This record gives sequence, C-alpha cells and structure tokens, in this order.
Amino acid sequence: MTHYMTGLVVRSEGTPAELVELRLPEIGPGQVRVKIRAAGVCHSDLSMINGTLRPPHPLVLGHEAAGEVVEVGEHVTRASVGDHVVLNWQPACRSCWFCEHDQPWLCSTSHGIAALENGLTLDGAPVHVTLGVGAFAEQVVVPANAVIRVPPQLDFDLAALLGCAVLTGTGAIRNTARVAPGESVLVIGLGGVGLSAVAAARAAGAGQVIAVDVNESKKGLAEAAGATDFVVSSENLSREIRSRTGKRGADHAIECVGRASTIRAAWRATRTGGQVTVVGMGAADDMVQLSALEIFSSARILRASVYGQADTDIEVPALAGDVLGGKLPLDFLITDRIRLADVPAAFDHMSRGEGARSVVVL
Ligand SMILES: [Zn+2]
Ligand SMILES: [Zn+2]
Repeated sequence: MTHYMTGLVVRSEGTPAELVELRLPEIGPGQVRVKIRAAGVCHSDLSMINGTLRPPHPLVLGHEAAGEVVEVGEHVTRASVGDHVVLNWQPACRSCWFCEHDQPWLCSTSHGIAALENGLTLDGAPVHVTLGVGAFAEQVVVPANAVIRVPPQLDFDLAALLGCAVLTGTGAIRNTARVAPGESVLVIGLGGVGLSAVAAARAAGAGQVIAVDVNESKKGLAEAAGATDFVVSSENLSREIRSRTGKRGADHAIECVGRASTIRAAWRATRTGGQVTVVGMGAADDMVQLSALEIFSSARILRASVYGQADTDIEVPALAGDVLGGKLPLDFLITDRIRLADVPAAFDHMSRGEGARSVVVL
C-alpha cells in the first residue's frame, strides 16, 4: 500500500525549507515504518541549510526524533507495531572492525550527512534524508537497527532529545571525561548538548559545574540544569575560571561549540593535568594552535567525544530510565513546542543563541 505524508524539504541549495507531500516507499525486509511524534531542532540541521555542510538535495531535514512503530518488515525482531522508539542517526552494524572492538559510535558504515536509502520520493524523484533519518516529517522508513525501544511512560518530546543532544552531552561527561564526584567541570556553549552536559556533570556528583555562554540570557537555563556558576564568555575567560577554581583551573572542560577559539579557551581554563573534551563539530580549516612545550608541560589530555562515545542500544534505554526515575531531570531543556511549519523560525532563534531546544510535536 502506498502512503503519502508531509515533510519539511529543502529542494535545492539556498532555497528555503518548505512543507511538501512525499511518497513513502513500501517497507522492505529489515525495515520499520515509524510515525514521528516529536522531533528536536538540532544545530546539525541548521548546518545543513546555512552552508556549514553541503548535503545533496532534495533533502528532508531532522534527525533527533521519537515516535511509534506502525509497520515492520520481514525478519525484524527488535521492534513491534506499537512500540515507542527513539531514532538513532548512527546505528551500529555490529560487524565492522570498530563495532567488533567495542567502539560502535565509530562504526565505519556511517552514512554521513545525508542518505538515499529508502525510496522516498517527491514528484517521482528520489529524496535524501538528513543523517539517514529525515525526521521533520510525519513518518519515516528506516532500517530496524535505527530504532531503539523506550518505555511508553516517557514523553515523546523528551524521548526525541535522547537520540542526539542528551546522548551527546551526557556521554561526554560519563563515557569520555568520566567525571568523578567532587571534580570541577567547565562547560562552554549552552545549547541542547551543553545543557545536557551540565545536568550530567551535576548528576555525576561534580563539585563545581561552571557553565559558560556568550549569551547572558542562558543564566536561568544554566541554573535549571544544575550549574553552580554561570560566566559570560569573554577574552579573560581562563583568568575568570582560575579565580573560581583555586587558581588552578578546572579538572575538566567540555567544549560544545566546535571552534578553535573556544577549544583554545577550554585548554587554557583547565588545570595542569586536566582534561579537555571537544564535543562541538567545527570547520575543516579552523586551526587550533598549541605549542609543543605547552602540550608537554601542561600534561593535559585533549580528546573528542563522538555521539557520546556510547553504545546507543544500551545507553538510550538507560537514559530513559534515569529521566523517568528522576536521576536526570531534563524538563528544562525544552523551551518551545512547535509545529513542522515553525521549524524555519526555530532556526532563526537558534542562530541568535536563544532558548534551549525547540521540539516539533506531531
Ligand atoms: Zn543533532
Ligand atoms: Zn560497525
């Protein structure tokens, strides 16, 4: 049976996103069809349209989502009709070198920024989907390993955020930095990922969680996330952080912006022997300068955290449990509930650095 649905599509580079009718493919073996119930507006979606990334077109935007399984193809055992699921934009194949060496977040079958894998069409022509998902649409057809079951008690809007911002931010704290009780943590950049990192650092028992943003208006959100200190970013950031951490600098810095200047600031604000975790995805030509002597004598660790350095199949359900059990309160993260047609306005909000997460509710 042929299904039609509405999706938010960019027809060609530089044109505005518009709501159009798309034809869903019939599902094949190993695939599932999901009715999207909530989808977050993530910075990577903005990067698809503002020139930071150069995806193929036409393109359905959206990748941070949750919904309800409405159809399953042959041989699908990990989901059934009626299940509530989080969409996973980097499902692990479980058979490549990285998957077999317990690093599924680096799976080599990753499809990159856009995929053309499911037969979705617009006026008879094939359509690409952002990060293999294309969640700003009423429905998606995805491989079964791209859905993760979560308890039906979890609201769809919060569930959606678990699939990208929350997993990325909490994973940086728990899996990459491995923040220990009593440690001091600096978080730079308070979007959905940074605020999740603040909440996770607090939940991990960090003694001091210093939240930094260029936008003064983020103070209330930082405090709601559990920050002990809020600092507006400036040229003197490292001096300011040292003055708040016994003149040493923070034990950890979590960089959630993805710019050479903020990576450098994170490095300088961290103590001798401290750890800098880069979560933000930056540009290929934005060079970070570190001298050979300071790399040696500072004894710091500098590393990246990709998709929370997490096994999503294990950690998304665990995060759902933490949210439902009150161990990781995240209600503050959703600052706007919007319709599909409002996504372009939400991108404008995001460009101005306002709010935390806007979530499309379908
Ligand atoms: Zn995202
Ligand atoms: Zn793999």
